[in-house]
Amino acid sequence: MLDKLFSKLEASYEDMVAIRRYLHQHPELSFQEDETAKYIQSFYEKLNIEVKGNVGGNGVVARVYGCKPGKTVALRADFDALPIQDEKDVPYKSLVPGVMHACGHDGHTATLLLLAKALNELKDELEGTYVFIHQHAEEYAPGGAKPMIEDGCLDGVNVIFGTHLWAGEPTGTIQYRTGPIMAAADRFEIEIQGQGGHGAQPHKTKDAIVTASQLVVNLQQIVSRRVNPVESAVVTVASFTAQNAFNVIADKAKLVGTVRTFNEEVRTFIEEEIERMIHGTCYTSNCTYSYDFVRGYPAVVNHAKETEFLIACTEDVAEVKTIEETEPQMGGEDFAYYLEKVPGTFFFTGAKPLGNAGGYPHHHPKFDIDENAMLIAAKTLGTAAIKIHGAG
Ligand code: MN
Repeated sequence: MLDKLFSKLEASYEDMVAIRRYLHQHPELSFQEDETAKYIQSFYEKLNIEVKGNVGGNGVVARVYGCKPGKTVALRADFDALPIQDEKDVPYKSLVPGVMHACGHDGHTATLLLLAKALNELKDELEGTYVFIHQHAEEYAPGGAKPMIEDGCLDGVNVIFGTHLWAGEPTGTIQYRTGPIMAAADRFEIEIQGQGGHGAQPHKTKDAIVTASQLVVNLQQIVSRRVNPVESAVVTVASFTAQNAFNVIADKAKLVGTVRTFNEEVRTFIEEEIERMIHGTCYTSNCTYSYDFVRGYPAVVNHAKETEFLIACTEDVAEVKTIEETEPQMGGEDFAYYLEKVPGTFFFTGAKPLGNAGGYPHHHPKFDIDENAMLIAAKTLGTAAIKIHGAG
């Protein structure tokens, strides 16, 4: 069965590249992906595959039914782009000023479409049900996964797999991890309210800059002194605003930053510790404050059994030369929400472009992928989707 799937995927490789390049030229921002969603939906309609649009927003969900009983397995690809000007010099460069597929979601979509087509052609021999989740708005919290789940995209699903084409690793590499693989990504905003005044009369003021500066230093103790050292966490103050003339003491200062964690208890602990430090620092200097902690995506936590299963599946894909455990990544991904509901695993498929000193990082204006990696992603996801019915 895998032989048949693989030869169909190989035969469709040129279509896969053509679709990826079409999407690359026509990127749309998160929550605005109307045309991309229509494009995906009509791909399925032309093949007479059951498909539903407007799932939790711009999401599209297709289903292929095998003729024998089995599990219901979901495969997910996201399809939104980023507010970045494409600076590549290639024929398939973005045609939309200021918008670009700079994270490979065009490749995810092309991979899943052609995999769905191939599985549909084999449905008379397949076990189980295949759910193709085309997710909008991964790049921008609150994201598309949550509303799609609320709108039923996981109904009846027993297991889910997803991959990210990864330009940091060479084509032929698959990276996996049991447990947390990507971080919870949260944002905080702190406003310190002092009392402004003349720069020459500090005793008549409450200096918001001095207080906020102490707070920036105090916050460094959270990860270094308060969080258990065997846990990972980041507290970054990314923005510090307080502007005045040279002889004025600041009335107000604002700090904005991000917190990254892998463990829900650590996440809540840090949220509370930040407030405790703000409270203490402001008490010392007699300032007041406001504090807003905005939760982004939770950590992507892979399930052990499904990750082990995925590792075994890669042995069937000849193009996979290296299978290795990755360090957890501090970036966020709303695949996290699917894994809170059903078992599954999210992995990285190496897609480093050839020929230009290893390529550019994700979200870079010259970002690109090695398109050959799409075939590896399709074969790996396809193997997992077919073999899961025989797995315990
Ligand atoms: Mn991405």
